[in-house]
Amino acid sequence: MARYTGPKCRLCRREGIKLFLKGARCESEKCAITRRMQAPGQHGAGRKRRPTGYALQLREKQKAKRIYGVLEKQFANLVKEALRKKGVTGEALMQLLEGRLDSVVYRSGLAASRAQARQFIRFGYYAVNGKVVTFPSYELKPLDEVTSVNPDKISVREVIKVPSWLEVSSTDKKVKFLTSPSISQVGEVSSELNPQLIVEYYSR
Ligand code: SF4
Repeated sequence: MARYTGPKCRLCRREGIKLFLKGARCESEKCAITRRMQAPGQHGAGRKRRPTGYALQLREKQKAKRIYGVLEKQFANLVKEALRKKGVTGEALMQLLEGRLDSVVYRSGLAASRAQARQFIRFGYYAVNGKVVTFPSYELKPLDEVTSVNPDKISVREVIKVPSWLEVSSTDKKVKFLTSPSISQVGEVSSELNPQLIVEYYSR
């Protein structure tokens, strides 16, 4: 499966915010955003121009792809799927992203980062409703339960704010996906994305 293998901190510096791609390092003083807050490349520290509407939409799309570790084609398919759903497209998109198995494993603290969550899922460390699932993009349905098949290999990360749509049992290393979150629920744990701009990008 295709994935981005380049330097992760460079992506954060490009977006100008912490995307939390490297687990514990992101919370430490070694974080590149804390140490060197400038865009990557020779002209990264140069004059900044006021972004156009298109540039804002593009950056928002890139940010979302990078946060959730989804490549271009897969992301475009998610937007198409969100457009087919009833209701607000931006909210449907966030629900699809947050309903992915790798997102749920990461948000619940059963992996140090989304990258580790994806790796552990491919290794077959988690089961959904008792059945091992090895696809990180697997979409959970409300009340699905994710359990650890290999609990000794998984060390639970301390989560400062457990999302309200998850019921986590750290001791049993399992999590229940209670419901698809609303935009405001997602905003409680991460406010860095504006899904409306992403939808506008794909509606051009
Ligand atoms: Fe981004 Fe900092 Fe984590 Fe690097 S250490 S991935 S810059 S948040």
